[in-house]
Formats: sequence, C-alpha cells, structure tokens
Amino acid sequence: MSGSATEVEDEAIVLRTYKSGEADRVCVLWTRRHGKLRVLAKGVRKTSSRMGGSLEPMGHVTVQLVKGRGDLWITKHVTHRERMTTLRGDYDRIAAGLAVVEVVDAIPTDEAADEGIFEMLVRVLLTLDNPEFRPELVASSFFFKLLAHDGSGPVVDLCVNCGSRGPLVAFNAEVGGTLCVNCRSGAAISADALELIRRILGGDLAGVLRGVAPAGAAEVNSLAHDAIEAHLGRRLKVARSAATLSPASASPAASSHGPSRAPEPDVEADELRRRPGVTGRGREGERLGP
Ligand SMILES: [Zn+2]
Repeated sequence: MSGSATEVEDEAIVLRTYKSGEADRVCVLWTRRHGKLRVLAKGVRKTSSRMGGSLEPMGHVTVQLVKGRGDLWITKHVTHRERMTTLRGDYDRIAAGLAVVEVVDAIPTDEAADEGIFEMLVRVLLTLDNPEFRPELVASSFFFKLLAHDGSGPVVDLCVNCGSRGPLVAFNAEVGGTLCVNCRSGAAISADALELIRRILGGDLAGVLRGVAPAGAAEVNSLAHDAIEAHLGRRLKVARSAATLSPASASPAASSHGPSRAPEPDVEADELRRRPGVTGRGREGERLGP
C-alpha cells in the first residue's frame, strides 16, 4: 500500500456492478458523504465470499474502502444494512428499483457528494420495499423529485411559454412543463395525469401510492421518462422498459463477438456513459413553482 493510500467508511447504495477478472466485481456506489465511487470487490464472485450478496444493484450497505489505483477503491469490509425482501420478491418492484439506480448512475458527477440524492435514493428503495405502496408510480415520482432537486422540476401550474393559467393541455419536457392550447407542443396531457403530477410534486406522494391505481398513471410514467431523459440528454434502457412493463423488449441482441469474448451488457453501458456529450443540461431550466 502506498503512502498516499487513504481509507474511508461510508453508507452506500449499489447502483451497478460488472465482472472484473476471474472472481472480482466492480461496483458503482452512490455514497452518503463521498459521492459516486467505483469500488473493486476482490474475490466477491467466489461462492465462499460473504460480501457477494450485499453488493448487488439496489443493495444498501456500509463499506470500508481503501484507495486503489486511479479512481478505483477496494473493499475492505461490507455490511448489509437493509435486506429489502419485499422489493426483491416482486418483479414490478425490482424493475422500478433498477430504473431508479440506472437514472442515478446516469447523473453527471464531478465526484462531488450529494447527500440529498443519497437520502432520496434510500427513501425510494424503502418505499418500494413497503407492501403498503403500489410500485408502478414510484420510479416516475422519483424522477420528478430528482428534477426538482436539481432545480429543473417541471412547471405544472401554468403555461411554461406564455404564463397563462390554462386550460393546460400539453406537456413538453424539453421546454420545462405544461402548455396551454395556444402554445401547445410535446405530448397531450389529460386532467387526471396533470393532477397526479401536481400531487406527486406537492407532497401527496404517499396518497398517490396507496389504494387503487389512479387514473392517468400510465401517462404520468411516459411523461416522467421523457422528462428525465430530456434532462440527462440520453435514452435509458432499464427505466424505459420498466415503464412500459415489457421486459421482452430489453432482451439483448445476439453478440457478434465470440462467446468467450463478449462483454457483459453492463460493460457496454459503462462505455456508453463515458462518451462525450452526455453531460446534463437544463440546469438553467424552469424552477419548480413555490
Ligand atoms: Zn401558453
């Protein structure tokens, strides 16, 4: 260990993992106090490893890390904090959780910690783990709240173009919210969907997620995905397939590489993320009304 090696202990959510070498795994973590970290878990894929189960996507862990080469950290100790058995036992809840961690992983970061996002991440996973709440609007609600957290929450109480009170008939994520009849662009929005988005952003998320599925839910999911994709400047894989609940569309195409050389889908996604031109935009976008 070199003299510059440092050690940290922090609470984290696992966003994504991919294989490394014969028995190791690299995990991308969103930590409470140290931002987004890439972590090498050595020997974690051996059946004797005790760390393996906790270092899965959506895992809520406490980690002790030692600085490795470059920006890579190495796990020294990992403790599982929440099992989230309800979340992990239901396809729709898993799909929603994977959409959430995919989006957080896609947030452009300059290594700066964002404890607000960490708190939101823990809360949304615990919501998905709570059988009192239906899962289908959880990821979309998280996306809207994430936009608001970033200062880019959609305007939903007046026309984002002319400022009129409405009637508001369209929603355009690119321009930052709802539009009146005269200014309409983007997608049509129903009164039910508009009311749902207002409740989600206005503090009634628990009410929205309880009881029967509210009218306009599918529309809200579509608009939420449009909004988060417009904000991040890229299409999302898991998030989109979770919204449409069509896992078949996510099946990977046959690889043109030899079977032993084919990279895992995660590795390809990782390379995609490193391409230029995917940094966030819209920071100067419309602020959420008071
Ligand atoms: Zn207008």
